[in-house]
Amino acid sequence: MDSSLTVAEASAPTHDEMSILVQTIEALSILTACALILANAIHFARVQTLHWTTPLAILLALPAADFVSGLVHWTADTWGSEQWPVIGRRFLRPFRVHHINPHDFLRRNFVDTNGDVAMGCIPLLLAALLIPLNTVSGRFLAVFIAAFCLVSLPTNQIHQWSHRPKPPKLVHILQASRLILGSQHHQIHHTAPHVTNYCIISGWCNPLLAYTDFFRRLERMITLLTGLQPRAEEQPIEAS
Ligand SMILES: [Zn+2]
Ligand SMILES: [Zn+2]
Repeated sequence: MDSSLTVAEASAPTHDEMSILVQTIEALSILTACALILANAIHFARVQTLHWTTPLAILLALPAADFVSGLVHWTADTWGSEQWPVIGRRFLRPFRVHHINPHDFLRRNFVDTNGDVAMGCIPLLLAALLIPLNTVSGRFLAVFIAAFCLVSLPTNQIHQWSHRPKPPKLVHILQASRLILGSQHHQIHHTAPHVTNYCIISGWCNPLLAYTDFFRRLERMITLLTGLQPRAEEQPIEAS
């Protein structure tokens, strides 16, 4: 046992180590998603005539990606079981482990950190490539989806940086400018009762979602419709 760890930290759950197969799939997902972003940009540049809806689509994609990061995070935190086949162990468990043992996230390498989101972006980027660009609405949608994926791709990387005591200097500047999630802002999510600040790209949507009690209302609606109860929060270990 590492002598720098408290007994609680040493016995806390940790992220699964990835097999070579999973690492390969995740690495290929990252490469494929980046190639598809490039393909979308080239495809668009070939047919695009300048139109004011293009920057609008990009601007709207920024808060949309942040909102969806919160929605996915809230879903994984609140519903489902680690025992579910495939997604339980690979996609839900990391969120649960992260609440109990937040510092273990810093052990996850680049591929482990970013592969899952890249995998989720691939079908969206393929769909964007298939959208006909001969109408304004088609071009708007294609740019919106591609920009949404571009902003979403580093979601977990940004989240991991927010947990680093000393992130790279440029990252620190972006955090301080509130262009990406900052440490203090995200720490609110890791503070009891752990039911706010789910958005983890820029965090821009968090104040409005908290003010409108969005996620609690959504939980009450889901419980009303399905009878399912939100999962109880795990207790984080005490940091040393
Ligand atoms: Zn969480
Ligand atoms: Zn976190």
